[in-house]
Amino acid sequence: MSKYWSPIVSRLTPYTPGEQPKLSKLVKLNTNENPYGPSPLALAAIAREVGDSLRLYPNPDAEPLKLAIAEYHAQHGITPAHVFVGNGSDEVLAHAFQALLQHDAPILFPDITYSFYPTYCSLYQVAYRTIPLAADFTLRVDDYLTAGANGGIIFPNPNAPTGCLLPLAEVERLAAAQPDSVVIVDEAYVDFGGDSAIPLVARYPNLLVVQTLSKSRSLAGLRVGFAIGQPDLITALERVKNSFNSYPLDRMAIVGATASIQDQAHFEQTRQAVIASRNTLVAGLQALGFEVLPSAANFVFARHPRHDAAQLAATLRSDGIIVRHFSSERIAQFLRITVGTDAACHTLLDALRIHLQ
Ligand SMILES: *Cc1c(COP(=O)(O)O)cnc(C)c1O
Repeated sequence: MSKYWSPIVSRLTPYTPGEQPKLSKLVKLNTNENPYGPSPLALAAIAREVGDSLRLYPNPDAEPLKLAIAEYHAQHGITPAHVFVGNGSDEVLAHAFQALLQHDAPILFPDITYSFYPTYCSLYQVAYRTIPLAADFTLRVDDYLTAGANGGIIFPNPNAPTGCLLPLAEVERLAAAQPDSVVIVDEAYVDFGGDSAIPLVARYPNLLVVQTLSKSRSLAGLRVGFAIGQPDLITALERVKNSFNSYPLDRMAIVGATASIQDQAHFEQTRQAVIASRNTLVAGLQALGFEVLPSAANFVFARHPRHDAAQLAATLRSDGIIVRHFSSERIAQFLRITVGTDAACHTLLDALRIHLQ
């Protein structure tokens, strides 16, 4: 604390990202990065952009990227006016909290969810109420419908850190029943096994769908995310963005993300590889006695009935394998394990096999 700080700064509880270790020999299964590299077409586009053009500011609206995203979803009536892009979906979400969720009534999100949501609430002074997930960690739409007045609803689908998927029909039921609230669906992991709500955007003016290139497109280091919604919602995000930073996406990010969206073959191949490794990992964990929640993401959430999760995480760390452990009460006995390559998954399973004996 310092007398120089603005009053709000001392009240913030900043988000703690997963560890990015300096040692490169570690098996890193803690931050849901994609083990397969980005599209080679994206890397080539980025390399071509490195040169004298960096003298010049980038396109402030990242127009080529908005066009590519709109084209990708054109069959659902999406145009560039339905697309907002930002420096990672974390920035898109932050702008959405300020632009669309700052109202008198509290916003609603699950008790177990992406821990950045309460952080944005403290930054933008948005009141919130958490709605407990069911005992099996699924989200019950009815609990949101009976919760009383709200200033908006946000949840990841699949949820983080559980990996559990809410069926699209349930997302639609929520958006349809709450026409006066903005419903934000954070689809960071949807490409690994869910149905996106983007096809619903044309019918629901209150629905905003947020996606990222960090997970399924393996570009966490480039920092690109986007939102899709009807133009009224997008305009609100643009107004905040243009009051904050006119150029959130640099030249490399714009061309790299555009090429990545256009490389359907690489996307399909790597996404299917992650899904296949997830199945191997789940079966291996179950064989060792773990309970694994059904995952539609590129990570699994698992607990062992006889072994403490914090202790397991520490033991794995000493073997050079990092997984994520959260200490909040309901999930303190779970480990969140990113789906790595088959080889990384087997390294993890081999280590667990020795320690669980
Ligand atoms: C990873 C993640 C994000 C943020 O991704 P960016 O790298 O900022 O695009 C957003 N929401 C959830 C639920 C995530 O897990």
